[in-house]
This record gives sequence, C-alpha cells and structure tokens, in this order.
Amino acid sequence: MPASATDASACQVALPLPLPQAFDYLPAQGAALRAAAIGSRVRVPFGNRELVGIVTGFGPGQDGAQLRPLLGVLDPEPLFHGELLQSLRWLARYTHAPLGEVLATALPAALRRGEPLPDTHAWAWQLSEAGRTGWARLRAGRPRQLAERLHARTCDEDTLDAQAGTGWRSAARALAQRGLAERIAIPANALAAIPTAQAPVANAEQRAAIDAVRAASRAGFASLLLDGVTGSGKTEVYLQAIADCLARGRQALVLVPEIGLTPQMLARFRARLGVPVHALHSGLNDNERARVWTAAWRGEARVIVGTRSAVFTPLPDAGLIVVDEEHDGSYKQLDGIRYHARDFALVRGKALGVPVLLGSATPSLESLHNARNGRHAHLRLPHRAGVARPPVVRVLDVRKRPLQAGLSPELLASVRGALAGDGQVLVFKNRRGYAPVLLCHDCGWSAQCRRCDAPMTVHGAGRRLQCHHCGARQAAPPACPDCGGLALQPQGVGTERLEEILAEAFSQVPVLRVDRGSTRRRDALEALLDGLGDQPGILVGTQMLAKGHDLPHLTLVAVVGVDEGLFSADFRAGEKLAQLLVQVAGRAGRAHKPGEVVLQTHHPGHPLLQTLVHGGYHAFADAELAQREEAGFPPFAHLALLRAEAKQSEPAHAFLQAAKTALRDADPQLELHGPLPAPMPRRAGYQRAQLLLSSPDRRALHAALEAAMPRLYALPESRKTRWSLDVDPLDL
Ligand code: ADP
Ligand code: ZN
Ligand code: ZN
Repeated sequence: MPASATDASACQVALPLPLPQAFDYLPAQGAALRAAAIGSRVRVPFGNRELVGIVTGFGPGQDGAQLRPLLGVLDPEPLFHGELLQSLRWLARYTHAPLGEVLATALPAALRRGEPLPDTHAWAWQLSEAGRTGWARLRAGRPRQLAERLHARTCDEDTLDAQAGTGWRSAARALAQRGLAERIAIPANALAAIPTAQAPVANAEQRAAIDAVRAASRAGFASLLLDGVTGSGKTEVYLQAIADCLARGRQALVLVPEIGLTPQMLARFRARLGVPVHALHSGLNDNERARVWTAAWRGEARVIVGTRSAVFTPLPDAGLIVVDEEHDGSYKQLDGIRYHARDFALVRGKALGVPVLLGSATPSLESLHNARNGRHAHLRLPHRAGVARPPVVRVLDVRKRPLQAGLSPELLASVRGALAGDGQVLVFKNRRGYAPVLLCHDCGWSAQCRRCDAPMTVHGAGRRLQCHHCGARQAAPPACPDCGGLALQPQGVGTERLEEILAEAFSQVPVLRVDRGSTRRRDALEALLDGLGDQPGILVGTQMLAKGHDLPHLTLVAVVGVDEGLFSADFRAGEKLAQLLVQVAGRAGRAHKPGEVVLQTHHPGHPLLQTLVHGGYHAFADAELAQREEAGFPPFAHLALLRAEAKQSEPAHAFLQAAKTALRDADPQLELHGPLPAPMPRRAGYQRAQLLLSSPDRRALHAALEAAMPRLYALPESRKTRWSLDVDPLDL
C-alpha cells in the first residue's frame, strides 16, 4: 500500500459521519495538497456540502471510481500522530464506531470546524524601562505592591490570579496608564511560577504510594489504584507524583469529575506545582478549549487538569496520567461516541508507556476487581491525614415517627444541636425541585409529561411543572384537568421544599440550596459558599455537594431519602448508592471539628445499610462482587447495549429483531436479551427499545460485534430508526 501522497492515487479521509468507511479523494493537485499527511485535517466536498475530515491513509483508489479532489489541507503538520492516533484507532474498534466520528470527538469544536491552530501565547506583565527605574518612588498601595512583584520577576496572568490577590488587574492597569508596566505575550511554558505552598511531610502510607508511582515511572506503563478514604491525602499523593513527573521534564494529565473541578482545586494545584496549570472543562468557550488543546499538542502545557473529554489531550512528552474519583459516572459519555474516560486513560497510558494513577474513596467494582486480580497495583490510604477524625455514622429509624416534609423530629434535633455548636449542616437529598409529583387528592390524577413516561416535577413552590427527562416546562394547572377539583397537592419532597421547611424551622441561620437549579454556573456555587464563610448555617443539596468544594466547617451531614435508592432494578444501583452515601458522609468533619452523619430510613435493617455502616465500603464491595459473580454481571461478564428509538415502537423493535438475527449468526453462543422496552419506554416523544448482549469473554463479544456491524448498517430497518451501540453501558 502506498504510504504517501506522491505515489498514491487516492487519499483516504475519515469524515464525521455515521458511516463506517473512510472516503477516497484525489490527493495530487498543487504542491500544498500533496503535503497532506496521515493525521492532518483536510477540507473535502461531500455531496453538495463541505466537510472537515482527517487523512487516515493513502491507497490505489477504487477501480473506475471518479474521485473528487481535496479542497484544502488545513494542517502543515498532522494533528494526530503516534500514540494518540493509535489510541483513537483502538477506541473506534472498541466502541465499534466510525473512525471519523471518533477523531472528530477527540478534537475541540473550533478545530473540528476547520479553524486554524490558535496562538498559544500566554499573557504576562513586566515593568517598562521607566517602571524599572521609577517604581520605588510610588506611594504605598496596590500598584506599588504589584510593581515590586514585577520588579522581582515578570509574571504571567495565571500566576498573578493565583498569588497577587483579587484586584491585581486594576493595579496593573494603573501602572500601564502611567507607562510603568506593560502586558506582553509569552510562550505558555516560558515562565515558571514559584510555588507558594509547601508540601506537608508525607505519612508512611502516602510515602509508599508516591514511591510506587515513582518506581512505575521508571518501568513504563503501570496502573495503580489509590484507594483512600476521603481526606486521607490522595490529592497530596497526586501533587507529589506530578511534581516528580515535572522534574523529569514530562507532562501530566489529571482527569477530574465534572463537579470536582472547582476553583479551589485549581488554586491548590497552582500554588504547589510552580508551573502554569491548564484547565479544560465545559465552562470554557471554544477558543479557550482549542488553545489549551493546542498548547498541550505543542508540548507547552505541562499540567492539564480537565473533565471527561480532556482524556483526548495530546501528550507529546507524557509522564503521568491521574484519574481522580475514578468511580464517577461523569467519566462515561452518554451520547455520540460512548467512551469511558477512565478506561481510555488506561489505554493511553499503556500506549504512552506511563503510569496511570486511579484514585477514589469508593473505587468502582471494576477497579477493585482489577486490583484483586493483580491488574492494578493496590495502594491503600485507610486513615485521614492531618488532624481530621472520621465521622460517626448513625442510622436513624423513622418508622412510625411523625415526619415534617420527610424530616423526623430526631433529625431536626440533631440539626439544632449542630447549629448550637456553631457548626454547619448539610441536608442531602438527591432530588431537585419542590416535589417529584403533583397529585389530585380528589380523583388521583397526577401530572405526567406528554412526551415521556414520567411524572412532571413540581418547581417554584407548586407553580411550575418541569420534566427532568426532556426539559418540557409548563405552568401548574389551577384545577385538576380530570375532575375540576382544587385539591392539587405536591407529593413527596425535593430540595426546594426542604429549603422552605428548614428556612422556616431555623430562621436564625442562612439556609442555602445547592443543586443544578440554584447554581447553573460554577462560580455561582463558589460565591454562595464563600458568602456563608464559617458561620453556622444549613446547606440543602443534591449530589453536587457530595464532592468537590471543600466544606471545612461541616459537622453534621443528614441524609434523607436513602430509601428511594434501596430498591432499584438496575444492577448497579447498590454500588451507586453506597458510593454516594460514603462520599457524602466523607464531607463531615474534614478539618478540626469532629463530624456526625445521620442516615434517615424506613429500612434500618437493609443489608446494604448494615454492611456499609458496620463494615465500611470494602465490606459492601466484597458482598456486591460476590453477588455479581454469581449472577454473571460485570465485571464478571462483558456487556454491550444496542438501543433503538423511533416515533412508533414498531420500527425500533424491527431493527433490534433484525440485529439480533445478525448477531446470532455471528456467534450462536452470545447471550442476547430482548428486544425489550427501555426502562423509560417513551422519552421526548420517542419509543425506545433495547437489546442487551452479554458474554463472559470480552473477545468473543467484540468478535461478534465486529462481524455483525456491517450488516447492521446495511439493514433497511436501520434507516427507519435512531440507533446506537453502547459498549460497557453504565445504565441498562
Ligand atoms: P483527599 O484527596 O484524599 O480527600 P487531601 O489530599 O485533600 O485528601 O488531604 C486532606 C487534608 O489533609 C488536606 O487539608 C491536606 O492538606 C491534608 N494533608 C494531606 N496529607 C497530609 C500530611 N501528610 N500531613 C498533614 N496534612 C496532610
Ligand atoms: Zn382530580
Ligand atoms: Zn418529558
């Protein structure tokens, strides 16, 4: 096969289309076009559109086919090459998705659209000629303080943000106006910041973990599970491992869950590492994302901290990959290319020959299983670092107790006690809105979403209805649409209603609600929590509060609504609930104040609660893994889920039935369940069905999919439905 444009008659291009094949184009037209290399972006005609694709190879072209020429080569140097291209090819095979879609997913949106690689200069401030001689004559004040700092060394804006306090920008403007300082562009990696925080002396367990990562770095690839309780100093281990990596002249990539990437966390990294720390998350605009990606591609960005899609960051000088809270569900992409960032991080680490450090207080059963069978090194941090003591956990039996908006008198008494001791309280309820259902007390009618098989959630103290599945909104009806009665009542309790009740019961302290409704933006949460400071108060929140922002004054965590999670059909529900409970409980007593956790339940004897409270997370995980093994569920079996949806249920069902036949032909041994209606059979107006594939042998599962996928694309039924394949699905 020809390896370059010059001796090939066709250039193969992967396009972001739901079609499995690459497309051939005519390469040679002018010198610039001949420069197209594998991994470069090219602009091509497709039908009557223009698309941006990636060159994936060169070939002889199809006999007799009339090829259209490339319209332009966008990159003089390939964007994808070496390890990243190889890993992404692997991902396309593993997810059985078109390579063109995988490559497009791996690019920031601006580059996907074909925009040129952005300038990656950072901005810095330095004293001007006049400033260097004249700064000492300035009056005392912010401008003088800044000038003094700049006299010592030129400072980039990230460092100033982290170290010069708020208000440095107006001081800088004041200096610039007087001609004393100037803003200059510098390469992103040109300036080293001076760390402002000292590393604490690692304890013996942390030392062992840091040494294990160091030894692994010398050997190449290794996967290590850092299994440590909340507050045990996992982040401290990451920081020292990253410092090692930087000292070896290598880049470090740190993945964090969507809600874990707080300004506090970034500030901690910046204060310690002495290099610019680049954040990649959904709060950035397209230009900022493309800049960070490109700075990493150029090798300028040395530490990249980002959420799920940051796993696609190019790492030409890779030294370490860290996945914090590796059990977190936000690492799984739920549409498009359904990748798992933790799993892909492991694949990349292996291809790059660098260690991958997975950290969690509640490791996923997959990772624990891999630690037990020796695939991951198992590093344990069983104790809290520093002064904090573990919280005391109490199960509160509320059977037959009078409840006020779901709160028992005992729980309210605990809240009162904690506030009296000047503590802060977190009341945790994983349901946002005012109430989950609006019910007519006269006839039993309830408000259902017109487009989903689900009730509408009540918001705005009963005035508004909202579907949490399709986003539909409407005003609450003034009277029952069925019987005309006026006895419409919100049923059950969400965070809004809890906030209302608690604000009434504890009017002397602030009551703050933290959920997606109240804090759409990252900094809104920050401002809310900063406003509370260290005074006594109550936080009411959903899982947004289970991790992320540090809450050092929390002395009581009260969990209400445990029961809803105890009896779910999803085989992962127990694992998710146990993780959530342990994570929320871990928020209590992080600093100098001892913590208490109260779990309010109608099922105090439930095995999950009993095992968790008396044996801890690992006892729970042991029991759960034994059950999974017996039932043949992951990690002891490998799953893939074929989903289909259409306006009517018939085409979706017909597609899955035909797919089942194709899969059955490919491997008669494969276990196939369905087609069955999805857990929520109708959503946003679509009828949804699914076919579950299961095999104890991962390779057999993939071989069957490999053989059957071309047939699925070719099925006439495939064009009458929206369908997708999810390998290793998290939600069944
Ligand atoms: P985790 O990431 O496991 O929740 P952190 O790394 O955030 O834990 O550590 C929890 C707290 O303990 C932090 O305030 C941290 O500064 C402190 N800490 C961590 N390691 C040590 C240590 N070896 N000595 C003293 N304090 C420590
Ligand atoms: Zn009614
Ligand atoms: Zn809906």
